[in-house]
Amino acid sequence: MHVYHNFFVLASSLLGTALALYWLCHGEVQTPELVVCVIMYVLTGLGMEVGFHRYFTHKSFKAHPIVRAALAIFGSMAAQTSPRFWVAVHRYHHAIVISQKTFTLLYLTSKASNNY
Ligand SMILES: [Zn+2]
Repeated sequence: MHVYHNFFVLASSLLGTALALYWLCHGEVQTPELVVCVIMYVLTGLGMEVGFHRYFTHKSFKAHPIVRAALAIFGSMAAQTSPRFWVAVHRYHHAIVISQKTFTLLYLTSKASNNY
């Protein structure tokens, strides 16, 4: 299922970029389109970084339910799967990265102590 989602996201992103370049080259991009582009960039960035990552994954702060809903909506607009799936994958990512760092640190520490 995620393969189709990834294909759709990649294909639509490439198509959207190609269309944007075409319209830009033909002078069809005006101020409203640029304003909407910047607003979407900021909102999806906030939704991903503040919402999905800091709030939903790491529970870094408390938020009012309206703010929580807005962060979930803005993050979902980035088309990176659902908040629940993104959080699960990101927590798994941190578990692996932390365990690899811990393993490396323990390995290096044991190697250093064996040299004495
Ligand atoms: Zn993280």
